[in-house]
Amino acid sequence: MRILIISDHADPLAEIGSREAGGQNIYVFYLTRFLCKLGIAVDVYTRWDKKNKREVIKYNCNLRVIRVKAGPKRYMPRDNFLSVIDEFADNVLKRIEKEGINYDVVHTNYWFSGLIGLKISKKIKRPMVHVYHSIGQIRFDSLKKLKIQDSVSDFFGKRKIAEKKIAQRATRIIATSPVEKRIVNKLFEIPNQKIDVITIGVDTNVFNPIKKEKSRKFLRDDEKEKILLYVGRIEWRKGIGTLIYAFKNVTLKYPNSKLYIIGGGKGSAAKELEKVECEHLSKIAKELDVEDRVVFLGAKNQKILKKYYSAADVCIVPSYYEPFGIVPLESMACGTPVVASRTGGLQFSVKDGKTGSLAKPRDYNDLAQKINIVLKNGKNFYKDNCVERVAKHFNWIKISQQYEKYFNKLIEK
Ligand code: UDP
Repeated sequence: MRILIISDHADPLAEIGSREAGGQNIYVFYLTRFLCKLGIAVDVYTRWDKKNKREVIKYNCNLRVIRVKAGPKRYMPRDNFLSVIDEFADNVLKRIEKEGINYDVVHTNYWFSGLIGLKISKKIKRPMVHVYHSIGQIRFDSLKKLKIQDSVSDFFGKRKIAEKKIAQRATRIIATSPVEKRIVNKLFEIPNQKIDVITIGVDTNVFNPIKKEKSRKFLRDDEKEKILLYVGRIEWRKGIGTLIYAFKNVTLKYPNSKLYIIGGGKGSAAKELEKVECEHLSKIAKELDVEDRVVFLGAKNQKILKKYYSAADVCIVPSYYEPFGIVPLESMACGTPVVASRTGGLQFSVKDGKTGSLAKPRDYNDLAQKINIVLKNGKNFYKDNCVERVAKHFNWIKISQQYEKYFNKLIEK
């Protein structure tokens, strides 16, 4: 079996944590590796966004990452991608013809890739499955509290039309949670039978619990201190501002607690994009007089993240909108409970009272209350449930097998 994956802006080999590289890159990274382990050949096509990147990276297990010329070979804001999708599709088709490749299925990620995939799958006459990762209308609704310019409204209008077209024309749609399935069904008016739920997973070889004593030693932190952890992009919709306000409340009960914030870009372009948000967050911490307890650690490689998750008493995912959210899975895999906003896929991955707690989005009082409950119950109260939940529902080995069956069924039709 040979699969063509399109992930226009999310290169699976990109630096993670920066504003425009996160969950989708990680999803494609693990999905492709686990499919390869099953003997499935995969080519991932992504936009060539840096001159010095190699065009084709070949792995021994039948996996290639192919950078496609579409627009300039440098950073381009994701929202400008609409102008280069035809060039992207044409260049993929040229390679398919030149190499004489026979793909069995086209798998697309995010709406630009969906549009590209529609062109390619039509031309090569193969089934196409689409994963949204983010749905424009829901993201737009989350922005409504901000002052929205007309150009932004227009953009989301176009996005909604495109996303509906993908829902209607793709062979099938993969929703990453039952919550997303309901949204896709209602918003794009396609039958439930066309939508399958296949969740995102976590690699338990990368994320597993380390003894508290050892992980705290690594962080040079006292075992008695309460450690709160945030991992993810530094972006407004992630709700880090709300978390800092909630943290202030937590310090009233636990004065020695600390909040670690992991994420952010490494390069100057990524840092520039995050500058405003970083300054805003530091200002909040200063105004609330917790700046010495809120520690911005920058981006960390995934390989060492388990040390931070294991050292933490609780991981917080305070997003205003979160289509799926891989961070809670990683935290739970390390045995650490999660307090997350009751939104999107977080409502599905975090089991309230069992693997952590769910709080009202944008409500720092409720968030603080839920964090305090989890801290009071203690990590051991949640630990086994967390590890079991991941093993049962979010293990990449099982999920890749599910994908294999799914692709086989599509090919048979
Ligand atoms: N991540 C990372 N290093 C960092 C920050 C984040 O490797 O410094 C990874 C994190 O482990 C997770 C992903 O980025 O796998 C974030 O995914 P999530 O779905 O939680 O958020 P998204 O980026 O999709 O908004």
